[in-house]
Amino acid sequence: MCIEFETPKPIAQQQYVLQTVAENMMRSVSREMDENEHAIPYGYIEFMHAAMKATGAGSLAPRDEMRKEVDPNKPKRPPIGYQMLAHMLEMLSWGDVGMYLVTPGGGLGAAAVEAAASPEQKQKFLARFGGEKPTFAAMCMTEPGAGSDTSAIKTNAVLDEKTNEWIINGEKIFVTAGHKSMVPDECFGKGFIVVWASIDTSAGRAGMRGFVIEQGTPGVTVTKLEHKLGIRASDTAAISLVDVRVPYDHVLGSPTVERETEKGFKKAMATFDATRPLVAATGIGVARAALEFVKEKLTESGIEIRYGLPRNKLTSIEREVIDMEIMLRSGWLMIIKAVWMADNRKPNALESSMSKVKAGDVTTKITQKAVELMGPLGYSREFLLEKWFRDAKITDIYEGTGQINRLVVARQILGYSGRELR
Ligand SMILES: Cc1cc2nc3c(=O)[nH]c(=O)nc-3n(C[C@H](O)[C@H](O)[C@H](O)COP(=O)(O)OP(=O)(O)OC[C@H]3O[C@@H](n4cnc5c(N)ncnc54)[C@H](O)[C@@H]3O)c2cc1C
Repeated sequence: MCIEFETPKPIAQQQYVLQTVAENMMRSVSREMDENEHAIPYGYIEFMHAAMKATGAGSLAPRDEMRKEVDPNKPKRPPIGYQMLAHMLEMLSWGDVGMYLVTPGGGLGAAAVEAAASPEQKQKFLARFGGEKPTFAAMCMTEPGAGSDTSAIKTNAVLDEKTNEWIINGEKIFVTAGHKSMVPDECFGKGFIVVWASIDTSAGRAGMRGFVIEQGTPGVTVTKLEHKLGIRASDTAAISLVDVRVPYDHVLGSPTVERETEKGFKKAMATFDATRPLVAATGIGVARAALEFVKEKLTESGIEIRYGLPRNKLTSIEREVIDMEIMLRSGWLMIIKAVWMADNRKPNALESSMSKVKAGDVTTKITQKAVELMGPLGYSREFLLEKWFRDAKITDIYEGTGQINRLVVARQILGYSGRELR
């Protein structure tokens, strides 16, 4: 099997539509959303919900079914679900990455259910995203004392054998879309969070399970909304869980601990194998926006990049721009490899983390260089470039920092376990 570099036709068609959305529904309100942190772009949310419903997708979360043949009557047609998603997220983030993060349909919460749930649970929890109202879900892993080091997670779930319910206690922070998922809003459907908790604190990661907690469950409180450097349209919540009771069948995966296998936690990692290249794609969208802005401003000043000349014949600015383009393309190609592997059911933990590392790096560097090259135009709020510079850095922080993804890459290449190399 070989990777096709030509963008498949269905993806190219989709891109055209999404570019219109990005230009007309995102860029047009980008500054307003940035300056009014936590304001909710209802128009965009409702439009995206209706559009996804019309296509039958209901969600932008990666789904296992994406890897199946698109049309059973055309068995040779290659699967492109993940590739399609990467292109879509790149384009929406080119529009506004903070607003992309408030696209309804489950996000990381739905991705966790996809990675760890039984077919019955998937049916039960995911069907809502195709319902009447836009609906959100979120994933809660991070805690005040546990971010990169997930073995330090203190949230725990204890089975009450009398009622056959799990009782969950703990504190989660930095939950993307946590507020929209758990605080009722008459415009939105009933969301949920997937909370990673230990069912056996002595078993380390092997005891970790995801639990679906529905909006309205007593004991769940959204205690804080973060004020952030970038992606300010996206709500990032802290959530407290006090004696939260959930039905027995809300645990994702086996309710018993297999100490040697760390199977429970591997489900969480499977979520990241699917989503890291997609997060990487969002960063590349931001970087492309910044690079295009630079080229546009250079053209307005009468400077065109002369491609094809030897490097020593180029001006300094031409070399800088070409280097930025190289960074952007290399970052994008790593993403395409990782999502192509996901589409073709090949294990992609290595490529997934590599693409995230690379995108974190190039997104930060390209936006920083763009601000530098544009001088005051890059620093002024008159243009969106300074915002993209602020939005970019998150690519290197959430879903595993650059350092942690480098560790994952090293472990994969050297064949070390998490315990052997940390
Ligand atoms: C806007 C935003 C949204 C987020 N959304 C979510 C979400 O939806 N769900 C969720 O669960 N979490 C979310 N997070 C949390 C995010 O995933 C964590 O912040 C991230 O994993 C880092 O963990 P930490 O904050 O505890 O930092 P730490 O783990 O304390 O890291 C601090 C620094 O130390 C470095 N470091 C740590 N360990 C090592 C090591 N072994 N080797 C080398 N360097 C190391 C890190 O790379 C980093 O540079 C979000 C964060 C932000 C900022």
